[in-house]
Amino acid sequence: MSGIDRILDKALRGERMTLEDTITLFESNEVEKMGDAANVIMNRMHPDPIKTFVIGRNVNYTNVCDVYCRFCAFYRRPGSEEGYVLPDEVIFQKIKETQDVGGTEILMQGGTNPNLPFSYYTDLLRAIKERFPDITMHSFSPAEIQKMKVISGLSLEEVIRQIHEAGLDSLPGGGAEILDDRTRRKISRLKGSWTDWMDVMKTAHKIGMNTTATMVIGLGESMEERALHLMRVRDAQDECIANKYDSEGFLAFIPWTFQPDNTNLKLERQTPEEYLKTVAISRIVLDNIKHIQSSWVTMGPEIGKKSLYYGCDDFGSTMIEENVVSAAGATYKVNIESILQLIRETGHTPAQRNTRYDILRVFDEASSVERDFIMQN
Ligand code: SF4
Repeated sequence: MSGIDRILDKALRGERMTLEDTITLFESNEVEKMGDAANVIMNRMHPDPIKTFVIGRNVNYTNVCDVYCRFCAFYRRPGSEEGYVLPDEVIFQKIKETQDVGGTEILMQGGTNPNLPFSYYTDLLRAIKERFPDITMHSFSPAEIQKMKVISGLSLEEVIRQIHEAGLDSLPGGGAEILDDRTRRKISRLKGSWTDWMDVMKTAHKIGMNTTATMVIGLGESMEERALHLMRVRDAQDECIANKYDSEGFLAFIPWTFQPDNTNLKLERQTPEEYLKTVAISRIVLDNIKHIQSSWVTMGPEIGKKSLYYGCDDFGSTMIEENVVSAAGATYKVNIESILQLIRETGHTPAQRNTRYDILRVFDEASSVERDFIMQN
């Protein structure tokens, strides 16, 4: 039995992967074998033949940022003529449009704008919840939360408590890039250490919020750093479970690849195989995280479909708007109807979920519900 076969056999027996096992998997090119094992594990965790998606919208409320990540084509420096903060009315309109197409989730994400006081966020969230009590605010990445901490002078826990009380439901895991400081220092020196990112997530779990976690490969990281990233996310999830917090911790893990176009970093684009391998390893290693999300926005619909056989149980969000990714050249746009079709083409049944992964609607083949839904929208 080869080293990879032994490791995959161990994973299929339900044994936990060590750091060394994970590094060996990342160093291997046996992508299909890893995909097969991940698919078996995924099917054990999610035996129903459905693949979920959420109807949501990204709202990039400001592009002003003082973190200057080298890979980011979206931000504008404070004082730039091209900098913006969306008027509240525009944000409300975007949320209304999202609800009008059956959407449930708003992912507000922006730069770390030093000109916005903490009250901007709490007031805006209250105003949103007043107008749209049913919308789930899955918004603000750890870098933005850390900025709120600096601006408000409050403790991290107090910031998260106050913003949660104002209407923030859960935290998306953006800005994790690679959770190791060697790579972080090279690509986003001012964004803080990996522990800064993790502190936000752990604090959110502690006060009862759910979060997600991401990983971006192709930033010049080593295979060991990729493996460490997974270990650190898994450890934090263990901590959440061991402490019996009133939170499910990381509800999902979302790996994706760095998009080098239009950025200052001269790095090679990751291959689809490398992406699929990372998806498979994530499913195999993260035994305490329920969902692995496909990232078709960056990889395109065809690889997105394949990922559903490499460990992903979820097709992510409809992503009505995603300026951060699209500014860097990911131009795939797939609407709700296409998502239904793409999931069907993989032999699965599509189902709309909410941010907590509760199933809202199963789209059985040719169901009248679906026809009505498509006609209306
Ligand atoms: S990735 Fe986010 S934090 Fe980094 S420069 Fe862009 S907007 Fe700012």
